[in-house]
Amino acid sequence: SFAVLLYADKDLEELNDLSAQRFPELEKIRQVYLAIANYLQLEAGTGEGSSFDFDLADFGKKFGLDNFTTLYSLKTLEQEGWLALNEQVFLPSTVQFTVTKEYLYRFEQDRPALDPLIKTLLRSYEGIFDYPCFISELLLAQLMRKDLEEIKQQLQELHRAGIIEYSPRKDSPQLYFQRNRVRGEQLTININAYQQRKAIFEKRVATMISYVKEEADCRSRMIGVYFGDNNIRTCGICDNCLKQKKLSLSKEEFTVIHERIRHIMQDDSLEVKELFNQLQDIKKEKAWKVIEFLQAENKLRIEKDGRIRLK
Ligand SMILES: [Zn+2]
Repeated sequence: SFAVLLYADKDLEELNDLSAQRFPELEKIRQVYLAIANYLQLEAGTGEGSSFDFDLADFGKKFGLDNFTTLYSLKTLEQEGWLALNEQVFLPSTVQFTVTKEYLYRFEQDRPALDPLIKTLLRSYEGIFDYPCFISELLLAQLMRKDLEEIKQQLQELHRAGIIEYSPRKDSPQLYFQRNRVRGEQLTININAYQQRKAIFEKRVATMISYVKEEADCRSRMIGVYFGDNNIRTCGICDNCLKQKKLSLSKEEFTVIHERIRHIMQDDSLEVKELFNQLQDIKKEKAWKVIEFLQAENKLRIEKDGRIRLK
């Protein structure tokens, strides 16, 4: 971001590497894709329309892939319509009865402890025999005046007994397969569009680097130019503006320094170094400014041997 004003060359090198990281080679993307399919134990020709729990850290550890490579490969796979990682998911729990009413009736006789939960489910969720219903364990617990954990346990029990299909809520990241798993070489992306995005990104990084390296131009103005606005005035408060301010001379300063130089030089010529030695209480940059000005005005000359002479 533009907030990066302090930098070391190492940081700039890292900026240059960013594009390789953000835009992995197709082979790398394929490698990540296959690793994911293996991690999820997904066979070729299956998976379309399914969501899977996806633990990025665990995956990376098992397949020796760093998180950036995985995330940026996933981003591309997402743009290309292969799969999508949803990191903020909340899928409520669902329940569907998977037995006939007659069977359920007999089951209730055998397991009276589970009868209240079955009755509450049937009363609270219409259609629960026909399709998976979103349920709330908390609501059930409140209705039955029971402990939440106990309700969850009983739901699991009914699930194990084959009475219901219970799938507890999910709030872990989900990886959604938009298409069936394919073999590595069948995984294609629009490489032209991909290279184009990469080029645009690299251009932005280059602009950013030149911005960070710039030492004279006002940074607000540079940002303005970056966003296409050429009419922004110098802000006067960024580090570069402050540097410029420190350098600029007031009329009084100029006069004082000019007088000092004339006083030191008299009619003699002096080595530049010697002159600066005698101007030690004055900022070197400011002294230089005055010398440059006098030189430009032809009132002072710097000889080839490095000696200064007033005219
Ligand atoms: Zn500025």
